[in-house]
Amino acid sequence: MTVFDDLVGQDQATAVLSRAAAAAGEVVRGGRGAGMTHAWLFTGPPGAGREDAARAFAAALLCPDGGCGHCDQCHQVLIGSHPDLESVRPEGLSYSVKQTRELILRAAGAPRQGRWRVILFEGADRATESAANALLKAIEEPPPRTVWLLCAPAPDDLMITIRSRCRLVNLTTPATEAVAHVLATRDSVPWETATFAARAAQGHISRARALAMDEGVRRRREAVLSIPRSLTGVGECVSAAERLVKTAEEEAAAATAVLNESETSELRKLYGEGSTGKGLNRGLVRGGAGALKELEDRQKSRATRIKRDSLDSALLVLVSFYRDVLAMQFGAGVELANDDIRFDLDQLAKASTPEETLRRIDAIMLCRERLGLNVNPQMAVEAMMLALRP
Ligand SMILES: [Zn+2]
Repeated sequence: MTVFDDLVGQDQATAVLSRAAAAAGEVVRGGRGAGMTHAWLFTGPPGAGREDAARAFAAALLCPDGGCGHCDQCHQVLIGSHPDLESVRPEGLSYSVKQTRELILRAAGAPRQGRWRVILFEGADRATESAANALLKAIEEPPPRTVWLLCAPAPDDLMITIRSRCRLVNLTTPATEAVAHVLATRDSVPWETATFAARAAQGHISRARALAMDEGVRRRREAVLSIPRSLTGVGECVSAAERLVKTAEEEAAAATAVLNESETSELRKLYGEGSTGKGLNRGLVRGGAGALKELEDRQKSRATRIKRDSLDSALLVLVSFYRDVLAMQFGAGVELANDDIRFDLDQLAKASTPEETLRRIDAIMLCRERLGLNVNPQMAVEAMMLALRP
């Protein structure tokens, strides 16, 4: 087993990254390590696993065994607590030059555990122009043991000067079949459930896994998919909007609780407290309480982000509904994401025109954009529901 096993349908990227990790190991042992590069750019559509691939590569760099997947180093990288991994994800719409400069300073330090200092920069496309210029300087003259892993949807999202200094790792949307196979073999999901989940998630592996394994996630998906047929009047649109926002909040709360719990108990173990101890701070060795406070702050800002992401993924489920309708209207023999509600899709496909379906998809996209600009969710979603009404 290696950390790359979880990258589904990404054989090409995995081959490149494994070779590079081996070269990096040579450098650590004092060799030349031809093929190791200090700046990498991970691109690919949402759900293809850009960040997962970058994180797996980080583990491969920091693990003494090149990413075995089960040692402490690998584990710390995967849960985000490794001291030599700096993970950055722009919280707002852009990443400022001040934030970038601070990051570069931290990046320049020597690795604490003697291997590499790895900076995982998610959403690198959101660096402002001056931030990008600061980043460029850092990438042009990297400290000998610093590795930058940038993630962006497409190479074109970055300035050409940055792009040209990075080695490109392009991830593709894995096929339904490949995703289903992983769920069935690795997670022991029954084949029928695995194919349903893989299809519904459209190649988005973590979403597929959640759909397959978590009854709550399936229930929330059904709630979202029942929305189109419920939009019979203005009042129904308003209450559908309320339901959607609430569903997203529930999903976010569930996701946040799981993450927080495992991180907090990890941290406590790290600082020497038994997991059964009562009272968070009692029994922690020095520094434990401060680290715990920092973790709680991080968890709070993450909760906000997860709430926004949950609503966005609910909107993407709605988009998949109308895309299926459009496919039926055009008689395109493509795989339907929501094959399990074919009857609903067929009804709407017959009762409306492709132009109307396209307008509805546009309305959802507009709503996503507005939510990205921090418009009040209830208001943005209400406006969208009214536009979806037949
Ligand atoms: Zn390892």
